[in-house]
Amino acid sequence: MKRAVIIGGGISGLATAWLLQRRAEQEGIELALTLVEKEPLMGGKIRSIRDDGYLCEWGPNGFLDSKPQTLDLCAELGASSRLLRSNDNARKRFIYSGGILNRLPENGPSFLKSSLISWPGKLRLAMEPFIPKYTASTDESLAAFGRRRLGDEALRKLIAPMVSGIFAGNPETMSLVSCFPRIAELEREYGGLIKAMISLAKKKKQEQAAGKVVSSAAGPGGVLTSFRDGTQTLSEILVSRLEGMELLSGVEVKEVRKGGTVPYRLITDQGELECDLAIIAAPAYAAAEMLSQLSPGVASTLNEIPYSSMTVVCFGYDRELISRDLDGFGYLIPKEEKRNTLGTLWDSSIFENRAPTGKVLLRSMMGGACFPDYVKLPDEEIIKRVRADLKVIMGIDAPPSFARLFRHEQAIPQYTVGHGKRLAALSEGCAALPGIILTGNSYRGIGLNDCVAAAHRAADEGMAQLKKR
Ligand SMILES: Cc1cc2nc3c(=O)[nH]c(=O)nc-3n(C[C@H](O)[C@H](O)[C@H](O)COP(=O)(O)OP(=O)(O)OC[C@H]3O[C@@H](n4cnc5c(N)ncnc54)[C@H](O)[C@@H]3O)c2cc1C
Repeated sequence: MKRAVIIGGGISGLATAWLLQRRAEQEGIELALTLVEKEPLMGGKIRSIRDDGYLCEWGPNGFLDSKPQTLDLCAELGASSRLLRSNDNARKRFIYSGGILNRLPENGPSFLKSSLISWPGKLRLAMEPFIPKYTASTDESLAAFGRRRLGDEALRKLIAPMVSGIFAGNPETMSLVSCFPRIAELEREYGGLIKAMISLAKKKKQEQAAGKVVSSAAGPGGVLTSFRDGTQTLSEILVSRLEGMELLSGVEVKEVRKGGTVPYRLITDQGELECDLAIIAAPAYAAAEMLSQLSPGVASTLNEIPYSSMTVVCFGYDRELISRDLDGFGYLIPKEEKRNTLGTLWDSSIFENRAPTGKVLLRSMMGGACFPDYVKLPDEEIIKRVRADLKVIMGIDAPPSFARLFRHEQAIPQYTVGHGKRLAALSEGCAALPGIILTGNSYRGIGLNDCVAAAHRAADEGMAQLKKR
């Protein structure tokens, strides 16, 4: 019988474990599987806290249904009936700029009417089709890309807030091709973003007219989808379906060593585990520590992947204390506005049941790569700063009747310029370590959909390696 160990019980590790177990069953391979998680609770960044009638997400609040991976996984797990789709408010997003919340334009006419971007900024944006495409072979930062194609104002007011909303990242350091490969591809293929949007819209019409399944889309699109009881449902269902597998929580893997009679020995804080295959689904910095003796080169590359920190602050209010309408997803704040937070999501407006009747739940994000020290602020200071922003931006003066905060010291991996080269070095390094596979959000996408897609690749690769042994 072969032995495989999966290290890390976040969505990446749990999904990999499930998929590997299924593949082994399908192929008739006898496999003893163990999943090791450092924390007492499985789920990693996914955690939904039901408290005082509010449902607070301390990490992700959903995934987009435009990619099949997570939805298919839910169907396989028999969890589809527990899904909860966000309502239409989720499409109304705002940017705080010039002292007001500006609705993010969704199309050309609304963009022209919007006061978010000045007329010179709009004109600069309109020049986009005339900007030559990028032909250099060097990795381009998101900021350089934004300035080059769309102009400085669009970079500051549109791209930078989006980068902080998704990665809690700094566009000056992040790599376009690693963070948004589709955008880089559109530029390469169509010569520009506006040209790509026009061509893809035409293609979509033709496909619709021909009764074909529509495949052309410029962006991610899709509906934000979660679960009635929060995203934690996904990790809970996965754990409950990993029957027959050894699940070790509260156990930390310290080191991966060559095994003598077996390929690898994992040294944990509570003993040793032997295995033919070790899939590391822990963050890059944790993987680096585990591999520091076995492969100093791989460990040093893993250590080059930085992480941004973030604090999530949930405030509950009586609805009547907020005078403005809350029909929307929430807002992001460009750095130049010099506020305390990165933005606030109106969670109870997009998902029913996130707050008790007559109450609302607002979830503010603070910190990120541009404000790395904010995560260390004391609780009272964080609450004070979030309240200050809510007062200026949403006119909320009253103290919240409910407040919870969650600190993530290493929240989100940053795909900075050079990330692609680092991935290539990791592939090369791991090729010399047959039976060791890296997966998780540190490499090829941070969304839940990306993590599930990476889990498929890890399970396939794991199966292939087991068959060779
Ligand atoms: C605040 C926040 C909001 C987000 N919002 C969204 C969103 O709305 N939609 C979306 O799609 N994505 C979102 N994301 C991103 C998404 O949540 C993550 O990318 C994803 O959950 C990461 O899963 P993972 O399993 O790769 O890593 P993790 O969840 O970090 O899991 C890794 C696991 O490895 C364990 N581990 C570490 N070291 C060891 C060791 N030595 N031994 C054993 N175990 C170890 C850790 O304890 C952890 O449980 C958000 C992230 C954050 C932080």
